[in-house]
Amino acid sequence: MRNAGLGSWPERRLRISPGRDAIWFEGTTTSHAQFALRVRRAAAALAGLGVAAGDRVAWTGGNHPSALETLYACGQLGAIWVPVNARLAVPEAEYVLAHSGASVVVHGREHGPLADALRHVVATWIAAEPPADGGADSLPYEDLLAAADPEQRDEPVALDDPCLIMYTSGTTGRPKGAVLTHGNMTWNAVNQFMGMDFTPSERTLALAPLFHIGGLNGTVNPALLRGGCAVIVRRFDPAETLAVIEEQRVTSFFAVPTMLDAMSREPGFRTRDLSALRTIGAAGAPLPLPTLRTWLDRGVTMQQSYGMTEAAPGCTVLDSADAERKVGSAGKPVFFTDVRVVRPDGSAADVDEIGEIVVQGPNVMAGYWNEPERTAEVLSDGWYRTGDAGSLDDEGYLYIRDRYKDMIISGGENIYPAEVESALLELPEVVEVAVIGVPDPRWGEVGLAVVVPAPGTAPDPEALRTELRARLAAFKVPKYVEFVDDLPKTATGKVRKPDLRSQYAHTEEKPA
Ligand code: ATP
Ligand code: MG
Repeated sequence: MRNAGLGSWPERRLRISPGRDAIWFEGTTTSHAQFALRVRRAAAALAGLGVAAGDRVAWTGGNHPSALETLYACGQLGAIWVPVNARLAVPEAEYVLAHSGASVVVHGREHGPLADALRHVVATWIAAEPPADGGADSLPYEDLLAAADPEQRDEPVALDDPCLIMYTSGTTGRPKGAVLTHGNMTWNAVNQFMGMDFTPSERTLALAPLFHIGGLNGTVNPALLRGGCAVIVRRFDPAETLAVIEEQRVTSFFAVPTMLDAMSREPGFRTRDLSALRTIGAAGAPLPLPTLRTWLDRGVTMQQSYGMTEAAPGCTVLDSADAERKVGSAGKPVFFTDVRVVRPDGSAADVDEIGEIVVQGPNVMAGYWNEPERTAEVLSDGWYRTGDAGSLDDEGYLYIRDRYKDMIISGGENIYPAEVESALLELPEVVEVAVIGVPDPRWGEVGLAVVVPAPGTAPDPEALRTELRARLAAFKVPKYVEFVDDLPKTATGKVRKPDLRSQYAHTEEKPA
């Protein structure tokens, strides 16, 4: 086999463990041997549509086996898989498809209208399932596979070749296409399954979206590499997810904190048999301690981690054993990855000194697709500048403060909005909040809290500020408080602070 990359994984599994389960989806189980043959057929079908090494094949939809099949099929062809967030608006999806230069899109059953709207951008659309609406010109995926020849391919694919382009969430601006190589995929998988003690009996839940790096690479690809099974859940529903965990004897999964919180509030959380469940990976945002404790009480271990699309994604992990002792920490670097905190001049920060978090390792991306300037801004000497502010304690545990782009500098003091937001969220009148900096003639910048109040409450801005003064240093208390019904968010559910900053840029002292 001349393929060293991800596309060779199903072939190697076919050789080693053909009879074991690889995929479960809505009642159907596919063995590693069957999965390998479906991947071969998908590769032949794409090749039949003209896809060759280096070409981009996009995929969008709710979680479905076609995501993994087309990813691995691209890996066999040396083609590049481009997952597209299924919740993007048409112009946002158009940007990603045009920017990546995709020649084929495989889409879910909800995306017939998207296919119809963007056929001028990409000529070939394949419907993974019959579309619910529109999409009449999309080719049926199952028919293409059935007609394809399941021959083993032998394209040369190296670990340094691009495997996929995953676009970042776009929280801080226009999304960037992180080019992840086959090596990035391999080493992230190794980092993950070492940290989570995966065995070939792993039955991991594909719960978070497969078009996100956490959903794809948190536990799913690592489990498949290890010889385990991916139990695919189409979309997140807390009660149904608990039922699948029980019925499929799920052993592990990756989730974001809001999912874990929602599941822990379900009656099924107490009544379902979760005894097979061994470990959970949580990342994307800090995990509140009460949610953590609720899950630990169910007898699972929790790996809280910090990562980003550009690092495929895992960088650090905090094990359950340290969860209470190191509350608020994102843990220590994963096995093959190094993490440092540096000053603006690049020198190492002292213990507990806040600086920029930089990471290096075989999981760090090759660069941003077609954006050499943006790549040069963040990658040098193999180190990736995350743009996140953080510190390392005397035992090497990482603490994340906030993104530098969101940091407010007021009268020479650095304010990390995440800290102010946490304090505001402790107040019962506050449901959601974003704290941003607005220009101020005296202090340079001052804080402005944009608050979604609890239903039926009409909090007084001055009263909120008074409560904050009891919890935070005076300079951190936002000068202004504005109330809104909802906050502008990305398709990933993160607040779009650039939008808020432009909206409130002209906020000035109002006469009392
Ligand atoms: P963009 O780069 O387009 O602005 P994004 O950074 O939100 O979007 P992602 O790659 O999905 O896109 O998110 C990675 C970021 O999420 C990290 O750089 C960090 O700011 C934040 N993050 C990830 N894990 C944690 C965590 N455990 N605690 C706090 N923040 C986290
Ligand atoms: Mg980012």
